[in-house]
Amino acid sequence: MKVKNLKDIFNQGPAVNLLSLALKKGRLSHAYLFTGPKGVGKETTAWAFLFHLFCKENKENPCGTCLSCKKIDKEIHPDILKIFPEKREITIKQIREIINFIKYRPLEAEYKVIFIKEAEKMNLEAANALLKSLEEPPSYVIFILLSENFTQLLPTIVSRSQIVKFRSLPKTTIAKVLKKRFFFEEKVAETLADISQGSLGRAIEIAEKGVLEELNSFVKAGFSENAILKFRVAERLASYNLQDLEAFFYVISVWIWRSYLKEKINYPYPQAFPEEIYTKNPYNALQIIYETKKALEKYAKPELTFYNLILQLF
Ligand SMILES: [Zn+2]
Repeated sequence: MKVKNLKDIFNQGPAVNLLSLALKKGRLSHAYLFTGPKGVGKETTAWAFLFHLFCKENKENPCGTCLSCKKIDKEIHPDILKIFPEKREITIKQIREIINFIKYRPLEAEYKVIFIKEAEKMNLEAANALLKSLEEPPSYVIFILLSENFTQLLPTIVSRSQIVKFRSLPKTTIAKVLKKRFFFEEKVAETLADISQGSLGRAIEIAEKGVLEELNSFVKAGFSENAILKFRVAERLASYNLQDLEAFFYVISVWIWRSYLKEKINYPYPQAFPEEIYTKNPYNALQIIYETKKALEKYAKPELTFYNLILQLF
């Protein structure tokens, strides 16, 4: 379920005001560049903006029930095209798809909207091709580029877009959303907020993938003398794909760092983290994790790699 009203976006006042005002005055830009850290609401806001733009019943407070709203919610609206990196880049082939898409007038709405996620991943050829469309877009076209790092975009693309800045969310906001919207219990919500670096998206990813539970069983296996237990955990971790493991490695690194801070300066330690803290050299540990990631990208035997990780870390 998508957020359907810009009013319901948490803690992105300036971005929300800018978009609301543009809608109210009917002065829309042909290209927006939503920029800010991962998981703070860029895409959520973009979709909410589209509900306002496309709703057939109420543009000020989108109804969520008209055909148009339903199609946006399911991401099947024919006047919206969403582009994201295939493998590691956005290619010229994808930009040609955009050029074809904007050739004809919208089918159901007043506008045709093109989302480009992780826009900084356009390769140079793609970026140059897009630039042509950005220079003279048909009047019914709105581009929304999303990027965590717009300094990697061509300056000519940036200069043709209206920049909409998103900021990191305070821990208290993240904890509040996790409790109210996602119904997490207090201890877990506080921990997720604490370790997610101002990114609600990251907090939710960690929760949905069960990463805190994985961390707990990983640490238990690490401190245990039981080789079979270690192997079972290694085997389970080996079943994840590399992308999902990103969150797991992130959380282990945070656990190591926060253990160190607790030990050295008695810095508050996240409540839902394992009871056991890591007491060996944190720098070495991070090095071992780094090597493990490299190995996983190369080797066919992830079970062995994870078993080795447990043996080396603890
Ligand atoms: Zn509607």
